[in-house]
Amino acid sequence: MAENSAIEWTDHTFNPWEGCQKVSPGCDHCYAETRNARFAGGAAVNWGPGAPRRRTSASNWNKPLAWNAAHAEFFAQHGRRQRVFCASLADVFDNQVDPAWRADLLELIDRTPNLDWLLLTKRIGNVADMLPNGWLMEHTNVWLGASIVNQVEADRDIPKLVALHAAVKFLSMEPLLGPVDLRGNLPGERALRWYRPMLNMLDWVIVGGESGPAARPMHPDWARDLRDQCTAAGVPFLFKQWGEWLPATEGRSVLGKTLILEGAAPLPDKPQWHGFEGGQQVARVGKKAAGRQLDGAQHDGYPSAKSGTF
Ligand code: SF4
Repeated sequence: MAENSAIEWTDHTFNPWEGCQKVSPGCDHCYAETRNARFAGGAAVNWGPGAPRRRTSASNWNKPLAWNAAHAEFFAQHGRRQRVFCASLADVFDNQVDPAWRADLLELIDRTPNLDWLLLTKRIGNVADMLPNGWLMEHTNVWLGASIVNQVEADRDIPKLVALHAAVKFLSMEPLLGPVDLRGNLPGERALRWYRPMLNMLDWVIVGGESGPAARPMHPDWARDLRDQCTAAGVPFLFKQWGEWLPATEGRSVLGKTLILEGAAPLPDKPQWHGFEGGQQVARVGKKAAGRQLDGAQHDGYPSAKSGTF
């Protein structure tokens, strides 16, 4: 499905620069930092406060212009606009980034109106100060997302997201590290003005477990509950992946326990098991074998085309 990205929910990934700083439990096993360290042959050189961020090449910056130019061909093939995820190796709203680079990115978005830009951040509180007044309202092809991994982040950051005038507002809940209730009313003063639950102000929710060598397991009930909350509220829900760990609930027997299986992906001979309080067992079978079915179904919800509306 993706043209230039391994990420299920986007067609292209664009990184205007590389480098960041950990700001959330979701950053603990940051893939981008590990990658940065690998290329540096040791510790990551573009990570942490004061570390220089690395702007990507001019040829890389030209790619969105080419995707934009090819929009009619893409639409004819897929029946929808192309989605560009920005950024997987950085955070657009990182305050250690040269503001001139961010201005260049905004100009690039200006020049590519045929692309839907997905700006996903762990710093949603910086957005209002880092964008010109009215910019989000003028750019209806920008989907603004907050990365949320637990209830603390949901309570802190979703009110900041829904207060912004983006055409599409979404959550990426990966790695999901605990149960999250999205139905709570906005806290504090805002609750006096807006009585609607937070979930009704969101256009899309993505949920996924963690992958990588130190991946933490996700309890299946955390994902199920978010699916059910989204279904009840009519919010599109996308289950991106289990990650490394798969729940033992149904399917083929492995070492006396049972697992959901997707397709014919092979399982390891001796999977590692983790038990949650309450008895739920999950097995480390690897991302590919774990797949992305939740209770036997693939969930591929997307927001409806909203360009030009709020
Ligand atoms: S915000 Fe993203 S890129 Fe930055 S450290 Fe966290 S996980 Fe890595």
